[in-house]
Amino acid sequence: MNITRRQFLKQTTVACAAASLARAEEELDFPLVDFHVHLDNSTIDKVLALPQAGSVKFGIVEHAGTKENQYPIVLSNDAELAAYVKMLEGKPVYKGVQAEFSDWASGFTKAGLAQLDYVLIDAMTMPDKNGKRVKLWTKEAEIGEAQRFMDRYVDWHVEILSSGPINILANVSWLPAALMPDYDRLWTEARMRKVIEAAVKRGVAIEISASYKLPRMPFLKLSQAAGAKFTFGSNGRYPKMGLLEHSIQTAKQLGLKRRDMFRPVRQNFSSRRATG
Ligand SMILES: [Zn+2]
Repeated sequence: MNITRRQFLKQTTVACAAASLARAEEELDFPLVDFHVHLDNSTIDKVLALPQAGSVKFGIVEHAGTKENQYPIVLSNDAELAAYVKMLEGKPVYKGVQAEFSDWASGFTKAGLAQLDYVLIDAMTMPDKNGKRVKLWTKEAEIGEAQRFMDRYVDWHVEILSSGPINILANVSWLPAALMPDYDRLWTEARMRKVIEAAVKRGVAIEISASYKLPRMPFLKLSQAAGAKFTFGSNGRYPKMGLLEHSIQTAKQLGLKRRDMFRPVRQNFSSRRATG
């Protein structure tokens, strides 16, 4: 059978992409999962129809917390959570939420949260002096003096890590734009260690963010030495989910193996079964 040049090229391209992915997975020795996928402005079916959905499994996260948090959707109670879980039922994805602020769990029961595969959180919304929640990436955010900000920011990490059953710390070591040029100076070893120790103590995995390309190597190496688990995350909005090139390259550099990677365990959330 004759094939045209165009068909030949197309088949070759597909074969090459598949081979390179197979190689990536072989070198990585664990399945590719993007645990930080937002459905904003899209639907689960549209997201699953993306070409990258064939090689990367998605973990979907909706914002969860009190109604004080301003997002198009904030799941605030068991009923809203159950409807969200139902929407994802039967789809080949992990079901997660992105917890907001330290009081996020107050509207949920343990049984409600037990329907989830995991909870992800980041530190990017922080209280100001008066306790008002501030989205640090907005221009309304007053960052103030850098060293004082960093101390408060590190303490805030520790606080949110103990705010409930958290599994993944996302957007790790992200800084407001004004401070980003000083990243290496501001993230001192002591500050990194404080965040990492709090995460490891609670079994919270460190996200290697493909979109922010964070955290940087010194942070990751300290995490690795402390025995932290890791995840990949794009924080992707349609159609940019699953684009994990930076995370994959970073994992290769660190030599991460299956045992280093977070895997969802539902029992995290259920009350323990009585034994013996
Ligand atoms: Zn997010």
